[in-house]
Amino acid sequence: MALESEKRIDLALREPTRAPLVDTFGRAVSYLRVSVTDRCDFRCVYCMAEHMTFLPKPELLTLEELDRLCSAFVVRGVKKLRLTGGEPLVRRDVMTLFRSLSRHLDSGALEELTLTTNGSQLARFASELAECGVKRINVSLDTLDPAKFRALTRWGDLGKVLAGIDAAQAAGIKVKLNAVALRGDNEDEIPGLIEWAHGRGMDVSLIEVMPLGETGAERLDQYLPLSTVRARLEQRWSLSDIDYRTGGPARYVSIAETGGRLGFITPLTHNFCEGCNRVRVTCTGTLYMCLGQEDAADLRAPLRASESDEALHAVLDDAIFRKPKGHDFVIDRPGRPPALRRHMSVTGG
Ligand code: SAM
Ligand code: SF4
Repeated sequence: MALESEKRIDLALREPTRAPLVDTFGRAVSYLRVSVTDRCDFRCVYCMAEHMTFLPKPELLTLEELDRLCSAFVVRGVKKLRLTGGEPLVRRDVMTLFRSLSRHLDSGALEELTLTTNGSQLARFASELAECGVKRINVSLDTLDPAKFRALTRWGDLGKVLAGIDAAQAAGIKVKLNAVALRGDNEDEIPGLIEWAHGRGMDVSLIEVMPLGETGAERLDQYLPLSTVRARLEQRWSLSDIDYRTGGPARYVSIAETGGRLGFITPLTHNFCEGCNRVRVTCTGTLYMCLGQEDAADLRAPLRASESDEALHAVLDDAIFRKPKGHDFVIDRPGRPPALRRHMSVTGG
């Protein structure tokens, strides 16, 4: 059944074209990541503290409001939309949102609708996601060792995630693995994880841990620069830089021996802010123009203030004008407070 906002936004899409969102550095915003919930069924040690306080439900945008907000971005030139979290697949009725947003794929206004997931619920939702036009997804997986998986995620069950990956591939969805490189925790397993993924036709992206939010762990103990990981991998395999891009920040190499692609997401050792095409919205409708800065704009107030999207578009114009040049994460000494108080689960990955 069509959402109310779906009908209204379809009208909006027939409005005269609105100006694309371009910042003062000339970067066009074509990629939106939306965290649809701050909740999660895992408590990964680098992402969350063991005991988290989550937002009261009324603070959250409804699915209708999320649809309206995403659609306003599509009108302004967003071509790639990623739903994330928290864990997006634990949000009740989230498939209603995927289904309604898929009309922008049908119309050609949107090029890609995708998600980042921990995979725990994928076995249930994979075929429905495929029906909604989701063609590629990111699944976060840091280890193939069940005991270590449980320790890193605190609550996770590796078997369920593997079943989820199977289901997604069976539904024809291309899966990319995201793995955070963690000193001492999974560093020895990285080659094995890459071999396993490439053997199943999946790309892998490695991510440097970022100093976001208090997790109860010392960041310096977790941080493993990807320059070190790459140097180690080069002793084992032949890595060649390639131009392959997926619209995100990863820089890719191909590995001759495994025949697969490996991405490096290096916010610490080498940021790629100069080419940033992304903004992020939280589940309360807060727009962050940069993952690594505090400045934000409230989109919930203009959404709720009026049935018309005029006020929303005015806030978007103002916010994109303030998109900063870049972030400046540092992990250099024990006890350094997080760069930002908010956790990664607030803005999503
Ligand atoms: N729950 C989903 C998942 O885990 O894929 C989506 C949200 S999660 C916040 C998105 C990505 O951020 C995951 O790949 C996760 O590993 C990564 N992540 C979480 N905290 C991080 C941190 N402090 N530094 C770097 N990556 C982090
Ligand atoms: Fe949950 Fe994803 Fe954060 Fe892990 S990384 S706690 S799965 S939101």
